[in-house]
Amino acid sequence: MESSQLLELAREYCKKNGSRLTPAREQVFLLLAQNQGAIGAYDLLEQLKQIDPGAKPATVYRALDFLASQGFVHKIESINAFLMCDHFSECSHPVQLLICDHCSSVEEIQSNNLDLALRAMADASGFTITKQVVEAHGRCKNCQRAT
Ligand SMILES: [Zn+2]
Ligand SMILES: [Zn+2]
Repeated sequence: MESSQLLELAREYCKKNGSRLTPAREQVFLLLAQNQGAIGAYDLLEQLKQIDPGAKPATVYRALDFLASQGFVHKIESINAFLMCDHFSECSHPVQLLICDHCSSVEEIQSNNLDLALRAMADASGFTITKQVVEAHGRCKNCQRAT
């Protein structure tokens, strides 16, 4: 999907939820949508500065926090980077990520079996899961071919 179409969807989604996409949030959203794979906050700031030279780190961090809270982007803790969600209209879905340590590409997958198994184990422990992100590291198809 085009990044401008994604932004349009995000605007509608926010309107429905009573939240607001400010110009700064929209700018960061577009940068994420145009970026292939995951990107760190620092690299985002560098890109944002080319559009808005006065951009501050706090602007980027606040925008990322907001976008993550809306379910538009996933934070990848283990590599401290952000990824636009493939299916952001269904927020709070379980997240499983395949992270290539060689080229830093990130693929988002969704296994309902894994989700159910984890929930069953949590239930047995009397634990309620509010958020789950599985970050699997390794080598992607392209990088395995290259070596
Ligand atoms: Zn997602
Ligand atoms: Zn790779």
